[in-house]
Amino acid sequence: MNADKKTLLVTGGSRGIGAAICRQAGRAGYRVAINYVSDQAAAEALAAELEAAGSEAFAVKGDVGNEADVVAMFEAVDKAFGRLDAFVNNAGIVDVKARVDEMSAERVERMMRINVVGSFLCAREAVKRMSTRHGGKGGAIVNLSSAAARLGSPGEYVDYAASKGAIDTLTVGLAREVALEGIRVNAVSPGITETDIHASGGQPDRVARMQDLLPMKRAGTADEVASAVLYLLSDAASYITGAILNVSGGR
Ligand code: NAP
Repeated sequence: MNADKKTLLVTGGSRGIGAAICRQAGRAGYRVAINYVSDQAAAEALAAELEAAGSEAFAVKGDVGNEADVVAMFEAVDKAFGRLDAFVNNAGIVDVKARVDEMSAERVERMMRINVVGSFLCAREAVKRMSTRHGGKGGAIVNLSSAAARLGSPGEYVDYAASKGAIDTLTVGLAREVALEGIRVNAVSPGITETDIHASGGQPDRVARMQDLLPMKRAGTADEVASAVLYLLSDAASYITGAILNVSGGR
């Protein structure tokens, strides 16, 4: 273990954008904690890949929508790394296509619990460790928002879009709350990005179907989103806090 190296925890790091963030962070010299909720094989394979490339990494299971899991996840990082310098609130879900007049309370509550409550609980645990007010040494947080927060996702998933609107507000409010405590808080707001999330919402063809409607006539890649996250975590972004960076190809 190299105690001098910065550490990073990424929620939902096992696949998609989170996995790309973990890979780029490993290359940038971070020790990386990879959170997952169900795909243990993907998370452990990624940890092994990072270790083989000379980084320190481990996989940690936990549902961000479950408070006890969130607390245990951050304690696992304390135990493994002894410090937390950077945190990415990346875990997020969509649901199947539905209009608002078709949505059950159960559906909307699950969306808010994972995407919003989960991000708040994780931000709380990160701030407790990073804030100079709590004896920490500062740090950087990046939240994953979505272009959906601006577009509203009508006829598709307004609940998801609203959950990302809450992420934008969390970003601005928390950034100002901890600006004097050594912590920067920013968001990256991707447009349509090539990952499994579309299939998980019952639309495996969503990227192919929509790409002609996009200004660049293509979706983004997980790596293109991850580059923006790594930039905002880095010292190169030392005067950037409360920003919401669109990585949406002009959409
Ligand atoms: P993805 O490919 O579906 O991967 C989701 C990741 O989140 C997986 O690692 C999954 O873990 C994890 N996860 C899901 N629910 C979780 C929970 N309750 N607790 C902990 N981890 C959980 O998603 P993605 O496309 O990379 O999206 C990443 C983030 O970017 C999300 O916040 C999403 O809303 C946002 N975003 C994506 C797009 C896009 O077009 N892809 C656009 C805008 C914003 P398992 O592997 O264990 O299932």
